[in-house]
Amino acid sequence: MTPLLSDPLHQRVLHFVAAQTGARVELSEQTDIARGLGLDGDDAHEFMRAFARAFDVDMSGFAFARHFGPEGLSLIGLVRTVLRVRRPRQPLTIATLVDAARQKRWPHDVTSKVCCAGFDKLVADAGQRGAGVVVSERPGGFVFHLQFRAVSPEDMRTLTEHPRPLGTAGNVTLAAAVQIQFCPYCGTRLSTLVKPSTVRTFRALARDHAAYDL
Ligand SMILES: [Zn+2]
Repeated sequence: MTPLLSDPLHQRVLHFVAAQTGARVELSEQTDIARGLGLDGDDAHEFMRAFARAFDVDMSGFAFARHFGPEGLSLIGLVRTVLRVRRPRQPLTIATLVDAARQKRWPHDVTSKVCCAGFDKLVADAGQRGAGVVVSERPGGFVFHLQFRAVSPEDMRTLTEHPRPLGTAGNVTLAAAVQIQFCPYCGTRLSTLVKPSTVRTFRALARDHAAYDL
């Protein structure tokens, strides 16, 4: 994740959250806007719509129920509560909002569709500075690349267009990738992750990740 403190986008998101929610608590990257600021129901819907508009974010990967409770009394919500089949709610932090604003898209959640938390994090970090896994769809199926980036995609564009002397001999590698067949954390064969029940998510991911292909 990019360091946020001096980042103008981070400041804009913080101001947006404060203005929209009238928050009286000090906001940090880890503030959960649902549990920490008490945002839920219609207010949460309105907040997310306003966020998408203000920062021009593609929200097709966003799932409301993953982060917020059911609105009012719905029969399905009631049945789920009685049967205790509701999945635990995931926090929605300001850091997540900043990342989405930077990438202009809400990340597709693959938590329940990949092998382990380590791989989940690599997929979520695709295209960011550091290590990430980029998913691509090819005629023969999906391929996975473990990618390392020295700088953010924006900085990479700038440095490629306007190379700067860095006081080192030769060129500097800004990004590298290697195709992988197995999860580097748990050893799962990655082709087994793509199933009829998950193929749509992987297809959406591959579309999101197209910009990160090297
Ligand atoms: Zn794994």
